[in-house]
Amino acid sequence: MALLDINNLSVTFDTDDGPVHAVSGLSLSVKRGETLGIVGESGSGKSQTAFAILGLLARNGRTSGSVTFDGQEILGAPTDALNRLRAEKIAMIFQDPMTSLNPYMRISDQMAEVLTLHKGLSKREAVAESVRMLDAVRIPSAKERVRLYPHEFSGGMRQRVMIAMSLLCQPDLLIADEPTTALDVTVQAQIMDLLRDLQQEFGMATILITHDLGVVAGFCERVLVMYGGQVMEEGPTVPLFAEPAHPYTRGLLAAVPRLDEEEVTMKAIPGAPPNMANPPKGCPFRPRCAYASEACATMPPLEPFAPGRARACHVEPGRVAA
Ligand code: SF4
Ligand code: MG
Repeated sequence: MALLDINNLSVTFDTDDGPVHAVSGLSLSVKRGETLGIVGESGSGKSQTAFAILGLLARNGRTSGSVTFDGQEILGAPTDALNRLRAEKIAMIFQDPMTSLNPYMRISDQMAEVLTLHKGLSKREAVAESVRMLDAVRIPSAKERVRLYPHEFSGGMRQRVMIAMSLLCQPDLLIADEPTTALDVTVQAQIMDLLRDLQQEFGMATILITHDLGVVAGFCERVLVMYGGQVMEEGPTVPLFAEPAHPYTRGLLAAVPRLDEEEVTMKAIPGAPPNMANPPKGCPFRPRCAYASEACATMPPLEPFAPGRARACHVEPGRVAA
């Protein structure tokens, strides 16, 4: 049984300009211990998918479909059940660590609070466990620094503290939404290395949400590429990178800087992501797609074409990779 199973999830926001379909008919599943990357430009619906799973959508958001975690339906579950789930089973880390850290509390107090509340530890045990976790995320002199406030850490160190916080209750699933986007390149690489090590050590399933296909390459076993709120392509990382079967995946790959080339080239995909309040008819990628034809006025279904792989495009997969 999958740990997380999403079936036909749609997320719609009611706005003054009418309904905005942020996510349409998304299905995915994540097994225990598995690493899945969700990749797409901003506005592709990847963060809203995460918020829907966790019951954290903005007030004007509504959902349909099904999200089961460990066999239980959690879409639209009562707030207290979702709060417990978020505290104990599903953790999320964000681009900005201050989203999850309280600036006015010492790290020791905020970490200990989680452990006394959800694990029933004494304050003393909880602080000891917090130090152990700060050690695990490689914060030097953890024993002293556990007494500090969030602002006394550098950006990268604060990110480590947030990761330590998120792992305190040993979640079954970690959702990391652009965890390194705000950091400089060297620190980004260190945090991704750390996350990879922790994922292997703790064995939690991980969903890594990013606009950067380069980041998922060394981390995720499987990748799901989203555009305009829909899945464009899905499959194991290695073949998806070697032979992208969707024009959008191909464009994203071309936008990854190639370090093996003499000059680092970065070809961005021309054009901009669709305005989801008024998306193009048919395939949402159509206005930017070099392969577009009249057929693309109708959205193609997501269809399997190779073991573990699927893509939604009217063009044959082989023609895209060529
Ligand atoms: Fe391009 Fe058409 Fe494929 Fe969409 S369906 S990605 S517009 S070729
Ligand atoms: Mg986002």
